[in-house]
Amino acid sequence: MSQFPHTPVRRTKIVATLGPASDREGVLEEMLRAGVDVVRLNFSHGSADDHRRRLTEVRAIADKLGRSVAALGDLQGPKIRIARFADGAVTLEEGASFVIDVALDAQSGDAARVGCDYKELAEDVASGDRLLLDDGRVVLDVQRVEGSQIHTQVVVGGKLSNNKGINKQGGGLSAPALTDKDKQDLKTAIDIGVDYLAVSFPRTAEDMLEARRLLGDAGAEIGLVAKLERAEAVANDETLDGIIEASEAVMVARGDLGVEIGDEKLIGTQKRIIKHARSHNRAVITATQMMESMIESPLPTRAEVFDVANAVLDATDAVMLSAETAAGDYPVETIEAMHRVCLGAERERIAQESGHRIHEGFERIDETIALSAMYAANHLSGVAAIACMTSTGYTPLIASRIRSGLPIVGLAHNPIAQRRMALYRGVISLPFDTSDMTAAELNDRALERLVKHGVAAPGDHVILTRGDHMNAHGGTNTLKILDVNEGHVSS
Ligand code: PGA
Ligand code: MN
Repeated sequence: MSQFPHTPVRRTKIVATLGPASDREGVLEEMLRAGVDVVRLNFSHGSADDHRRRLTEVRAIADKLGRSVAALGDLQGPKIRIARFADGAVTLEEGASFVIDVALDAQSGDAARVGCDYKELAEDVASGDRLLLDDGRVVLDVQRVEGSQIHTQVVVGGKLSNNKGINKQGGGLSAPALTDKDKQDLKTAIDIGVDYLAVSFPRTAEDMLEARRLLGDAGAEIGLVAKLERAEAVANDETLDGIIEASEAVMVARGDLGVEIGDEKLIGTQKRIIKHARSHNRAVITATQMMESMIESPLPTRAEVFDVANAVLDATDAVMLSAETAAGDYPVETIEAMHRVCLGAERERIAQESGHRIHEGFERIDETIALSAMYAANHLSGVAAIACMTSTGYTPLIASRIRSGLPIVGLAHNPIAQRRMALYRGVISLPFDTSDMTAAELNDRALERLVKHGVAAPGDHVILTRGDHMNAHGGTNTLKILDVNEGHVSS
């Protein structure tokens, strides 16, 4: 049934966060060469100018390499953070008292107290609550709240540095998803031309719809990514599915989500989110601490290898790197390691076998063609690839919801569609301009493109989907099985 393509192509996509580490001379180009598919511009750090400069450089390198690389802007959201320490990081000892004082000057923290940017925190917490700082590395139990001061006892101590996040175990903090800063950053993201925009801490579909209205008002064609990181967002299927349907993609934001719902629930929740996203025809990114030790080490731990592999076997579209590439010592090595692990995991049968949605009905013609193409590709021997002529990337998205070992080639003319497809598992995005082609030569030109890229060779079958308008992009209603021959090999 499924076979390997001519060159091993990684199906799972890599999202890498940019930052000071990727700013070092030559590093960004090495990262892209090592296989980054999507860059993440994190609006929690850096200025608008930093993000603009980085994206300009990414686009230039991607053009030079002939690659479609998408940009994901990530809004900070109502992430609650401690303020800063006067003399850098402090170490909190277990059993000690520690005060979070929302009225304290933002620069004046020490080992006994620190400020906080979210003034409502003192109203949202009460005696008995547990606060988790720095993704749960430091744990504080609230003993009493006196005005602006939250008095706590350190349950798990350790190093605490500037601006680390605060979560409340079990969720339930009141802040709405889009802050004033986010609304400003959303404008910046539109202005610098991101392809995807991530909304942090949405509680319900309504938070995503608000972001969509703001994008719509600006006429921006940007895919929305919902970061699932609040306990209430995944508490039941209705809320989860509502958020998924209101978005183009979702992120299993394990950092904040894991802190709010706890490790033991996170395991099943990752699998549930990935499954729901795929069955709703949405893309899904698995994020946070995937290669955490590589911030300081050139090699991943075995546990990290298996964490990335597990996400691949769960059928995630993409795996994400945060501080590893934004602030670590080994950004390029981390991408190389992730690339290897994805390829290894994808070799496993369960990563390639599909249930084919046997019990589900189809709603659209293009969806029917996409899924039929995958069924045919996975069952006919000698198929090298599925090629989809597409205007928006929708047919490759649907096709890639089905597990397969075969590459899905998205042939699009529109650069927005080309870059959007960079996130989809198993999809190779290739520019394809049909405007100068006659209807009769389209199929041959498509096959030549695949041969040139090394995904098909004479003797192979290729399954092609297209519409029957003049330019064949959009309105997919046709499935053809074509044979590659020597005439498709350019001299
Ligand atoms: P962050 O989101 O990196 O912006 O916190 C991801 C997560 O919470 O896992
Ligand atoms: Mn988060």
